[in-house]
Amino acid sequence: MKSHKIAVIAGDGIGPEVISEGVKVLKAVSKLNPEINFEFTDFPWGCEYYVKTGKMIADDGMETLKKFDAIYLGAVGYPGVPDHISLWGLLLKIRKGFDQYINLRPVKLLNGAECPLKNVDRSQIDMVVIRENSEGEYAGAGDWLFKGKPEEVVLQTGVFSRKGCERVIRYAYELARKEGKTLTSISKANALNYSMVFWDEVFEEIGKEYPDVKTYSYLVDAACMFFVKQPERFQIVVTSNLFGDIVTDLGAAIAGGLGLAAGANLNPERTFPSMFEPVHGSAPDIAGQGKANPLAAIWSVSQMLDFFGYENWGKAVLDAIEKVMVEKKFLTPDMGGTSKTNEVGDAVVKALEEIA
Ligand code: ATP
Ligand code: MG
Repeated sequence: MKSHKIAVIAGDGIGPEVISEGVKVLKAVSKLNPEINFEFTDFPWGCEYYVKTGKMIADDGMETLKKFDAIYLGAVGYPGVPDHISLWGLLLKIRKGFDQYINLRPVKLLNGAECPLKNVDRSQIDMVVIRENSEGEYAGAGDWLFKGKPEEVVLQTGVFSRKGCERVIRYAYELARKEGKTLTSISKANALNYSMVFWDEVFEEIGKEYPDVKTYSYLVDAACMFFVKQPERFQIVVTSNLFGDIVTDLGAAIAGGLGLAAGANLNPERTFPSMFEPVHGSAPDIAGQGKANPLAAIWSVSQMLDFFGYENWGKAVLDAIEKVMVEKKFLTPDMGGTSKTNEVGDAVVKALEEIA
């Protein structure tokens, strides 16, 4: 029997509500297949912890987390705690500290999901966006000169290393080859005349090793337009940290909204644990009311199962989510239903038992 150690950081707001449903689904998988076992350990880190201790994560937190196979994260954010504190104090600390340089976000329109686009073939909204997750525009490099003076200047520097670009682009080519799909790079070399020129060069260079992969290259502005007008153009997409942040929110919007958007932060070498999380935040407006949609958090469980090599179970969980959405009997208010968070989680478990 294989056992996987999972660190659960449920976090703030609706985080704990949606994460407990994801844990429920993982336990169901383990029950349906006794060969797979998960050991869960809860950690109280996040903004509430910050309010009490002045820290987002314990001093030895990263050392502790290192021993796990995966991190399952809810959401961090709390009224009164500035976003940059929660972001840099926990989320980016883990992403950077554990070199999770791949941010993998499925943009797939499931049956039963609402799509705001008209006149598109629903089955063609099916892509995977790979966002560079360790450097680029979010490297945190810059300067603030002559603060408060008339000549004040603020610099925010993008950092694009050869190693950083090559590894994410190579990952994307490998995935496109494995799945027999096209690969699209999104950049902006006409305006960002250093970083994106380099990005495009690396994309082309590495492409020489993958003559079997059909590639496209879009400027980010044009890509945004086509995400809306012709999303069928995209299959596997690779892009920088900032552009990936933006286009994946657009992707979430065309594939059913925040309640359905999942994201994996991967360290493909498995030197460090990878982290799985719903894309949405802590949503304090609906926290504690059982209204939170757990499907994004459950979809990230499907990604975790894929990453552990249980692709058939990852697919079964996704099929179970889709079944619940098509049946429309158990849905949270954001999807037009009247069910509570835990009832939706129970429905997914039931659907999974039927599928498996
Ligand atoms: P944070 O500061 O942590 O990002 P936020 O209020 O910005 O929190 P978001 O996740 O960005 O929260 O979501 C914006 C809004 O979308 C929320 O206020 C909430 O109404 C809705 N929302 C987000 N996630 C969910 C969900 N899982 N289920 C239902 N509604 C959601
Ligand atoms: Mg937010």
